[in-house]
Amino acid sequence: MRYGILKLLKEAGSDYITGVDIGTRFGISRSAVWKHIIELRNEGYDIESSPNKGYRLLPGGELLNPFEIMDGLGTKIAGTEVVYFDEIASTNTHAAKLAADGCAEGTAVVAGTQTHGRGRLGRSWESPKGKGIYLSIILRPPMAPAETPVFTLAAAVAAVRAIYDVTGLRTGIKWPNDIIYEGKKISGILLEMNSEAEMVNWLILGIGVNYSQTESDFPEEIRDRAVSILSASGEGTPWKDAPHGQGSAPGEDLHHVLRGGHDGRAGRLALIRALLRRIDDIYQDILNGKNAGILDEWRKHSVTLGREVRFTLKNTEYTGTAADIIENGSLLVDCSDGVRRELHSGEISIRGIFGYSD
Ligand code: ATP
Repeated sequence: MRYGILKLLKEAGSDYITGVDIGTRFGISRSAVWKHIIELRNEGYDIESSPNKGYRLLPGGELLNPFEIMDGLGTKIAGTEVVYFDEIASTNTHAAKLAADGCAEGTAVVAGTQTHGRGRLGRSWESPKGKGIYLSIILRPPMAPAETPVFTLAAAVAAVRAIYDVTGLRTGIKWPNDIIYEGKKISGILLEMNSEAEMVNWLILGIGVNYSQTESDFPEEIRDRAVSILSASGEGTPWKDAPHGQGSAPGEDLHHVLRGGHDGRAGRLALIRALLRRIDDIYQDILNGKNAGILDEWRKHSVTLGREVRFTLKNTEYTGTAADIIENGSLLVDCSDGVRRELHSGEISIRGIFGYSD
């Protein structure tokens, strides 16, 4: 109900609506309306009340909550249900619990911070409060586990598109699915699966995006290899260069949006919505068998292909040139010993994109 009132206030823009009008609309008394207004204010919405004119919502009050994330989102699956936590151990872990309890496909878990944010291979994901996006989506693709590796590539493509939609930043993909801006990681993706031998029960697609961290917000160990949306958007960055052919162009008041609200909340909200939309689109592509297009787009954004890479396999270190990606998500590397090797994501970690510094 209170979000119904909020929606009404939003639609009214800068106009006032009287308590009587709101009450009539929802069949409640003026004092019940007032209670809902108090609740909305307590949540953080800035609602002005004037004895004669009624109520109106003051601008710049977008909050990160399920209503704001879902309102007018227009997706088929991703984000059709949203749960939000100010703080959670891990959005992926919580999403797995919801999935096991039978939640609807597309349910998204969003958090303001993660106390135990997880990365691939047991690594951790730094998730400072209010400075990043921590999002996990539950999907239930009707397919065999062997068909799912494309999701690893698809998630990265969706993240690149969404970041471009909102910010105009052109990011790249480090195999298999780190999102990189000028050699530094701006976003990481963690895909987890639960399945029977022949059928997937659920997939959890987790995305962490660094949004408003400054350099000193990152722990020292990752400071030289991590970057946030806002710091990447500093001076000299091509915000809105040539059209990308990837959907809506960033708005005119981009900086206003990105930095708007407390802690850039408006920008984080816009990016969460864009991620849900792009994941929804690409999920439809997968369901419609359009994997080839996803692979092509992954190749286009790759910062790995054509580069010299170094990796360790069964305790032996190899170097070679990353040659291509294939549909099972593997990276083909032409090794210096003349052998082309196929690397599977999840089994090894590739080093080198950051300049062999580690
Ligand atoms: P790597 O980039 O070290 O090869 P990975 O791609 O295999 O790691 P991910 O799961 O994508 O692993 O990310 C986890 C790693 O990313 C951590 O080990 C840490 O080095 C780095 N990291 C952790 N938090 C952040 C963050 N907020 N921003 C950028 N990098 C981070």
